[in-house]
Amino acid sequence: MSTLLVYPSPDARLSLTCDASDRALGSVLSQEENGEWKPLVFFSRKLTPAEQRYSVYDRELLAVYATVRHFSYMLECRNFTIYTDNKPLIYTFTKKHEMCCPRQIRHLDWIGQFSTDVRHISGSLNVVADSLSRISEIEMPSPFDYKEFAKVQLSDEEFQFLRSCTNSLKFQLLKVPGMDTDLFCDVSTGRRRPFVPKEFHRRIFEKLHNLSHPGVKSTVKLVGDRFLWPGYKKQIAEWTRCCVPCQRGKIQRHTVSPLGTYPVPRHQFDHVHIDLVGPLLPSRGYTYALTCVDRFSRWPESIPLKDIKADTVTFEFYAKLIARYGVPERLTSDQGRQFESRLFREFARLLGVKVVHSTPYHPQANGSV
Ligand SMILES: [Zn+2]
Repeated sequence: MSTLLVYPSPDARLSLTCDASDRALGSVLSQEENGEWKPLVFFSRKLTPAEQRYSVYDRELLAVYATVRHFSYMLECRNFTIYTDNKPLIYTFTKKHEMCCPRQIRHLDWIGQFSTDVRHISGSLNVVADSLSRISEIEMPSPFDYKEFAKVQLSDEEFQFLRSCTNSLKFQLLKVPGMDTDLFCDVSTGRRRPFVPKEFHRRIFEKLHNLSHPGVKSTVKLVGDRFLWPGYKKQIAEWTRCCVPCQRGKIQRHTVSPLGTYPVPRHQFDHVHIDLVGPLLPSRGYTYALTCVDRFSRWPESIPLKDIKADTVTFEFYAKLIARYGVPERLTSDQGRQFESRLFREFARLLGVKVVHSTPYHPQANGSV
């Protein structure tokens, strides 16, 4: 059965339903929409061998803890209810501290920072989280008709050749579980791997790879653990690389532009950064400031301005900065219209100043002012 996830809404009520089995834990974060709980996101993971030895209560607590931790970015500052089918867990926050082991305190401490509202849900209603925690028990559907498979296997030339020559493979005629068909399987690796005739190669690959579209390595392992044919690794690697949904859905290459290099100025006031600040609180009629920073010495200058018309800015820049420190070689400004004006450009051209404009996408280029 398939289901649709809903789009998160910031004001909707949330509920977290968790469950743990002996092997795994599962949970679902749901959102209330028109009086109905709709799934927002699912979570499940296998328990480590150490976690598998926890008591039932501890496993259920771990399920809540792991889920809250996993979805912490969605649960922060939200009121939500935690549902569990483990009754003792409901009273966990009213328990005395001395009764808890350090791990339980650690888990409760984390959960308590998000919510202490733990309620009971009967096991029969807790379908989603329950099946997610038993995900490993869901049996894969039998990929094809094994009867036809067995017939083709016997007449396969490659198989006859493999059987006749000496190699590390060990073939045995074994029964397919639940069927009265016998298949030749390789048992040299400790697993039963049926030999796959040529016409089934692609079908096997598609059945297994299309489950979750894993990468080359995982697909080779997925198939290689269950089936066998000569040269399967190379063939599967090639098919995985050519899989169209994989190429559409996975971003493998990102464009990384190299950082721009700036020549280091050799003298003071060789390269000056300028910017306009304001409007500020008026002081003696001045409401703006032209800020300039020398790139070499980082010497800052602030020139008060009454307005920011292009001619005022140009004149003040000439009279207060150039008159005192000389003409700079380069000038970095933002894309303010005063620095883009014809007057300012003409003025820079006459003095032989190269004006560099920072882009609106990267204002840090002119960050020193
Ligand atoms: Zn794929």
